[in-house]
Amino acid sequence: MTTDNLAAFDGLTDSYNRRIDYLRISITDRCNLKCIYCMPEKGLKHFKQSEILTTAEIIRIVRIACKYGVRKVRLTGGEPLLRNDIVQLLSGIKSAGIQDLSITTNAQRLAGMAKALKKAGLDRVNISLDTLLEDRYRDITRGGEIDLVWEAIAEAERAGLSPVKINVVPVRGVNDDEISAFAAMTLKKDVHIRFIEFMPIGNNGAWKPDAYLSKDEIMARVTSAGKLIRLPFKGGGPSRNYRIEGAAGMIGFISAISNCFCSSCNRLRLTAIGKLRPCLFSEITVDLKTPLRNGASDEELEALYRSAVLSKPASHTLRDGSLGHPSLSPMSQIGG
Ligand code: SAM
Ligand code: SF4
Repeated sequence: MTTDNLAAFDGLTDSYNRRIDYLRISITDRCNLKCIYCMPEKGLKHFKQSEILTTAEIIRIVRIACKYGVRKVRLTGGEPLLRNDIVQLLSGIKSAGIQDLSITTNAQRLAGMAKALKKAGLDRVNISLDTLLEDRYRDITRGGEIDLVWEAIAEAERAGLSPVKINVVPVRGVNDDEISAFAAMTLKKDVHIRFIEFMPIGNNGAWKPDAYLSKDEIMARVTSAGKLIRLPFKGGGPSRNYRIEGAAGMIGFISAISNCFCSSCNRLRLTAIGKLRPCLFSEITVDLKTPLRNGASDEELEALYRSAVLSKPASHTLRDGSLGHPSLSPMSQIGG
């Protein structure tokens, strides 16, 4: 890539004509849980606090992303609600011009914060919940309390952070016997259950071919709760959405492995230590933090942002390369 090429590049769409309008930001690599499919039992070595982007740095990067067409931001981690400046972050990001602001959280801290987060500009929330059983929840998360999640869901709905989306990662032999129970939750309640295929990411030894369930297998189990009606595909998100006939809520499937959705991928990721990562499954990153802390101008940061858009690969190679050999950075460090 020459400087001339980069200067001519608009930064709105990538080399494969995908419009990049979504930035997913990991605001911390720390977490108050250690889910078995995400983290090793002994935990992970954390980045130093001084390496993590500050509130002002994140907001400055979001302003630049906004200039290049980003309208949706999701805060994730690690556990985003561990950051003490979460309210300031949300309001700063919203004021930068973001129209759709959401978080993904394990909800252990959400109940008492939902109203304040909504007031600060949060539009929606995704809550990770992989089982409906109290003891199993404690086992999967290595210490989490499911009651806090139920309280958080109720509180989020009261605060207007709806529809609440629930992320479920089915893992064979762990929680796959609850797939139809999750699907049945949508019959009476306007929740959105999203089944996410277990991905071989993070070197924690949890991913095994036998533990993985494909979208088709998950779907076959969902249909025992009722007939699935396909809903129109909206936006560039990865979820393919359905509704059980007559149900109040929705069911989505995110199938990075069995049905790669790379051709419609609309996102970049920003890691907690300030690296733009154009693809979850590629270690190619563009460092923004170092130049930012060395006094880079907006124009210089914009050029780096555009180079990240330009370096977005056409597709991941999970099927033909690393599948079965988890070697990518842990999800909690990249921002799932
Ligand atoms: N701590 C927050 C939470 O759990 O919601 C946000 C970060 S977490 C890394 C974001 C999402 O990634 C969660 O919904 C989690 O279930 C999902 N996730 C983590 N490891 C995964 C894996 N190996 N395969 C698929 N999804 C995974
Ligand atoms: Fe923490 Fe979320 Fe990973 Fe669970 S999935 S260990 S809550 S970052």
